[in-house]
Amino acid sequence: MNKNFRRKRILVTGGAGFLGSHLIDRLLERGDEVLCVDNLFTGDKSNIDHLAGHPRFEFMRHDITFPLYVEVDQIYNLACPASPIHYQFDPVQTTKTSVVGAINVLGLAKRVKARIFQASTSEIYGDPTVHPQPEEYWGNVNTIGPRSCYDEGKRCAETLFFDYYRQHRLDIKVVRIFNTYGPRMHPNDGRVVSNFIIQALQGAPITIYGDGNQSRSFCYVDDLIEGFLRTMDSGPDMPGPLNLGNPSEFTIRELAQQVIDLTGSKSTIVEMPLPQDDPRQRQPDITKAQAELGWQPQTPLREGLAKTIEYFEGIIRRNALPAERLIP
Ligand code: NAD
Ligand code: UDP
Ligand code: UDP
Repeated sequence: MNKNFRRKRILVTGGAGFLGSHLIDRLLERGDEVLCVDNLFTGDKSNIDHLAGHPRFEFMRHDITFPLYVEVDQIYNLACPASPIHYQFDPVQTTKTSVVGAINVLGLAKRVKARIFQASTSEIYGDPTVHPQPEEYWGNVNTIGPRSCYDEGKRCAETLFFDYYRQHRLDIKVVRIFNTYGPRMHPNDGRVVSNFIIQALQGAPITIYGDGNQSRSFCYVDDLIEGFLRTMDSGPDMPGPLNLGNPSEFTIRELAQQVIDLTGSKSTIVEMPLPQDDPRQRQPDITKAQAELGWQPQTPLREGLAKTIEYFEGIIRRNALPAERLIP
């Protein structure tokens, strides 16, 4: 190896979670050093167990609402519970993680002059009145509802990122992630893909909330992580925000049917009450990501679902489903 070559040391907050652990795998594969910081609120050590002893991997148990002094070249800020059940469990902590956590990682990025990436969300568009959602849309968000801790926390985090960008000339990358699924989703986090697959595999009724005509656009995790890496490696002065997601839109009823078909399950479908402030539709406009990164998702829903089903089959076979619905 060239002796002048110095590896990048990359901090991933929330690295023991679903997306963070996939991101870390990719960073290590390409030769980076990774520091994973996570308080294990919704993340699980089993997601990073396979990295124990890896010479370029380090884990630190830490809550990002407290200051963090480390030396790194790049930061991916993913720490935040992402599913409605988890982020509504302790809503004050959710807002603190997004807002105070952002201030801490931004302060860190400022001190060490690191490029910093923020995992924002399609939730900042709320229940959108524009469809599909382009980055220019400002959103339709309830400030005082049960989802507000997450939506407004993430919106404020975006504000902080852009204020550090303007005020302190920080090198920022903000992406807005749309619904993503795949192996290592938390089995009990109540998200629709994991719920439907587990229900189908166990022959339990598939729980559709509302009439099932609400829509989502589901992105397979590998496609999303490719988008993360391309965003982080994009040129300076491309702060975003950038939508990342799969524009193929499905109703929740269509998703249930696909899961039933792919598992060959005998599960029936039951309708349950729709949660408050549940967005009716969601589809990313990814024109910008296509133009700026040459990126677009490659994995059709059926193919991604098949891989995710295989993962959950493994968990059920090992009898490793957590007993409690609400983990923390
Ligand atoms: P996840 O719950 O699996 O991962 C989040 C991780 O952050 C967990 O490991 C958790 O323990 C950790 N964490 C939470 N609070 C923390 C704190 N205060 N300090 C340190 N660590 C903390 O969720 P995910 O799906 O991997 O989501 C990762 C990021 O992507 C989140 O910021 C989420 O808002 C964003 N996002 C995800 C999706 C999706 O569909 N998965 C969609 C939009 C945005
Ligand atoms: N911070 C941190 N690690 C660092 C530098 C800063 O956690 O390496 C935190 C610290 O708690 C600080 C916050 O980031 O309050 C914001 O830092 P900044 O320098 O922007 O603001 P200030 O220190 O002036 O409040
Ligand atoms: N949903 C459902 N049954 C479930 C879980 C979720 O019908 O068992 C619905 C939920 O009401 C929402 C959609 O599926 O309309 C996506 O929910 P999820 O929690 O996965 O993501 P989000 O609402 O944050 O997009």
